[in-house]
Amino acid sequence: MANLSKLATALNLEYQKPHAYGIHNGFNYTIEETLSSSVYIFYFLIDEITSFQIESFSTYIKQSKKAMKIQAFDVKGFIIRIVWNNYFGTMTSTQLLDFIDKMTTIFTKVDFQPSQTCGICGKPEATSLVKVNGIIMFKAHEECKTAKLAELKQEQGSAPVEKPNYVGGVLGAIIGAFIGTIPWILVELYIGFYAAVLGILIGYASFYAYKKFGGPLNNKAKYIIAASTILGVLFTNVFFASYIIYYAQGAFVFDNYILVYTDPEVSVILFKDLGLGLLMSVFALPTIINKVKSEEKRQLIVE
Ligand SMILES: [Zn+2]
Repeated sequence: MANLSKLATALNLEYQKPHAYGIHNGFNYTIEETLSSSVYIFYFLIDEITSFQIESFSTYIKQSKKAMKIQAFDVKGFIIRIVWNNYFGTMTSTQLLDFIDKMTTIFTKVDFQPSQTCGICGKPEATSLVKVNGIIMFKAHEECKTAKLAELKQEQGSAPVEKPNYVGGVLGAIIGAFIGTIPWILVELYIGFYAAVLGILIGYASFYAYKKFGGPLNNKAKYIIAASTILGVLFTNVFFASYIIYYAQGAFVFDNYILVYTDPEVSVILFKDLGLGLLMSVFALPTIINKVKSEEKRQLIVE
């Protein structure tokens, strides 16, 4: 784990997990720790700049990228965001101070000014810092900030509270998974050629129906969808076993299922189909989980 809290203590910076805050040469900055102790993200607060200034800044950065361990940087609004990567090496407090000093020196060279424009009304002489999701994003006049915060609070208060509908979500995920088995079943019965690759559709259908039935897009969604998908694959396999029993004019009793799943010739086909189906659906799950993550509502915290 990252050691930003230790660095912040050593350098007397304000720390609020996962961020540390400071000011150097007039420039406010936020440091963000990541899961890797060799990677930190820096956010420097500057005043409005011209595209010509951005260009000369880029030239400076490109020259010293390697020496300064800069992996990536971009300029957005009042923020210069820099990804610092020391590949397997960690950050020491000396390195941190040195980096911030070099960075702000470049700012001065390309004539960047510390921010003093209000991000809310656009007028100068703003003094209060405004953090969005823990990152210092802009400055504002105290009155502007107070008014904006009150406005946001009212908006949040009047917004209808959405209750997570797990019953609907689970139901949807299962129904979706069952619908997703249809292409596989049809192709298997009529063509029969590696139809299990269509197992990939089960997870997508499950995810789609989960959302349609009002399932909340949060951490639990992926487990519900994964479980429903596996259920769909298992169902398809039992369906094929039933089909074989039906074809042999047998009754749908437990003993006949045992027979089908232990018969050396028939069970090989069933288990191969099951294996391929599981493989395909498991293969699709990370993509679906990423979809859940990207559609998850991000909470905006302004302070
Ligand atoms: Zn203002």
